Amino acid sequence: MSGASPWIRVGDLEIAPLLDGYFRLDGGAMFGVVPKPLWERRAPADARNRITLAMRPLLVRGERLLMIDAGIGAKMDAKSVDIYAIDRRDLLEESFARADVSPDDLHIVLASHLHFDHAGGFTARDASGAVRPAFGRARYLVHRGEWEDATHPHERNRASYLPENFVPLQDAGVLEFYDDDETVVPGVRVRRSGGHTRWHQIVYLESGGRTAVFAADLVPTTAHVDVPWIMGYDLYPMETLAFKRAFVREAIEREYLIVFEHDPEVEAGYLREKNGKIIVERA
Ligand SMILES: [Zn+2]
Repeated sequence: MSGASPWIRVGDLEIAPLLDGYFRLDGGAMFGVVPKPLWERRAPADARNRITLAMRPLLVRGERLLMIDAGIGAKMDAKSVDIYAIDRRDLLEESFARADVSPDDLHIVLASHLHFDHAGGFTARDASGAVRPAFGRARYLVHRGEWEDATHPHERNRASYLPENFVPLQDAGVLEFYDDDETVVPGVRVRRSGGHTRWHQIVYLESGGRTAVFAADLVPTTAHVDVPWIMGYDLYPMETLAFKRAFVREAIEREYLIVFEHDPEVEAGYLREKNGKIIVERA
């Protein structure tokens, strides 16, 4: 763990990738149709065929202090901790300390989507065991369609949507909805990518001619920059394909700083094209 300040300047905004620890998911599921001999060179598998992923919520400081996603949180049961090898040695709270902000300073918590590895930290158990919003002074912003889907799950997505991560927000009156392509605060704009979930969002951070993009599960790690390297978890993989194909071109041409929410090593980098291949240049 380094004590260095995590803040990165983007025009008049500042961003800081945080960490809520690590977990592991099935490598085959993480790379969809890509055969293991190809993906395991980029992401080595453990004895249970799992690869290591980080959870990196992003702090954004502009007119307001905002955080995108919140990691997995501390509510997962022992069975899930084992299945997903949840390793929270390095907690979100420690990231806040490195960024020199208090969780109570957060004005807004913005959800890319409501899967447990993104929304788990939205709520926490208090001393009495009741589940409450984890950030007492924040408003929580969730896409209206994602909320509908998360609260009406089907057989394929039910395991990803744990009501205790988001229903208590509504009960506490801190939940607000947003719709497609909204500017949440000046310089912070959500854009619907779909694909992973029907209403999955990426977030553009734009100021002074510079752009950083929180890519969430559109490009979860640097191993996913190749267009067909799409997660088996995605509900609408052809939607991911179309969006990602265009997005990768846009990111190269406009020199976006891409924030990788799940990469175990690389927090952020620029996409470059070299001899017809897309590579990531670390920021
Ligand atoms: Zn995820």
